[in-house]
Amino acid sequence: MPTASQHRASRDGYRPIRVSIEFFPPKTDEMEQILWKSIERLAPLQPKFVSVTYGAGGSTRERTHNTVARMVRETGLKPAAHLTCVDATRDEIDAVVQSYWDAGVRHIVALRGDPADGVGNAYRPHPGGYAQTSDLVAGIKRIGDFKVSVSAYPEKHPEAASLDADIDALKAKVDAGADQAITQFFFENDIYLRYVDKVRAAGIDIPIIPGILPVQNFKQSANFARRTGASVPYWLAARFEGLENDPDTRRLVAAAVAAEQVLDLVDQGINDFHFYSMNRSDLVYAICHLLGLRAQAPKVEAAKVEAAKVEAAKAA
Ligand code: FAD
Repeated sequence: MPTASQHRASRDGYRPIRVSIEFFPPKTDEMEQILWKSIERLAPLQPKFVSVTYGAGGSTRERTHNTVARMVRETGLKPAAHLTCVDATRDEIDAVVQSYWDAGVRHIVALRGDPADGVGNAYRPHPGGYAQTSDLVAGIKRIGDFKVSVSAYPEKHPEAASLDADIDALKAKVDAGADQAITQFFFENDIYLRYVDKVRAAGIDIPIIPGILPVQNFKQSANFARRTGASVPYWLAARFEGLENDPDTRRLVAAAVAAEQVLDLVDQGINDFHFYSMNRSDLVYAICHLLGLRAQAPKVEAAKVEAAKVEAAKAA
């Protein structure tokens, strides 16, 4: 019998864990194959939703639309399309939103986006565009009854004057109709937990879903963190030290590090997670398994089986 001191929520038999998984639209045929293989592997875990990022430039944007539309057509998944205000008029953005609605998409991750001339430059809204994310959120809600997710920054957005100013910006997005927020990734759970306390104290009551980046390549993740304002703790660097030329051990360490972070959050009462998958399925699949998620027949397949049963019964 476990003693009281051994009790941990992450070891309970049943917890209502919900996960969502983020992908980016592939640029090459090879990347496209990797993406769809990952989706095939992760789909049976029945994530609450999967999201597809949105970039600058027409061809990237088309790839997002095509990926999301294919998810709707060919899988039982509920995709969320990311959308930014960058370099487009309101009419252009509204047309994209309408095209998502027409394709059966009902969830949008609404973002301001990074400056068109690169991170680090000052952001200038398009003269005929949505000036800030809260305006985009309101615009999306006017077009259709979409669920709208927005970003949140536990370590503040690099451009924000202070964490309080950043939380004010989040409040504006919530007041405009945002239904939930997904955080930038972080590696210290205390940073997230303290942030959620501050957000609640500011009167914001929407879900703040932790964004988790399983570290597949430490150097790459550390660079990514530097650009986004996320801090990289010394102990994380130490865990990957000396493994630069040892991909097998690196993968095992990566799984252990991600598992430690996520299971600790479960122990802290967190039940929803958003994974930045980098289009790879192995780490995310393993973490979901640890969280208690098990593969189930994809809904589309299950629906086909049901339809076949009905046909067979009719024929009998
Ligand atoms: P916002 O939260 O709107 O704010 C950006 C900055 O402006 C903050 O500093 C905020 O404090 C400040 N601000 C906002 N409104 C006001 C105001 N009224 N007054 C004063 N200051 C204000 N980028 C992409 O290009 N494509 C993607 O698909 C994508 N997906 C993402 C998904 C998630 C979950 C996250 C966390 C980020 C994503 N990004 C993506 C990155 C994002 O576009 C950048 O971080 C961008 O610089 C800011 O966009 P935002 O919507 O997060 O900004």
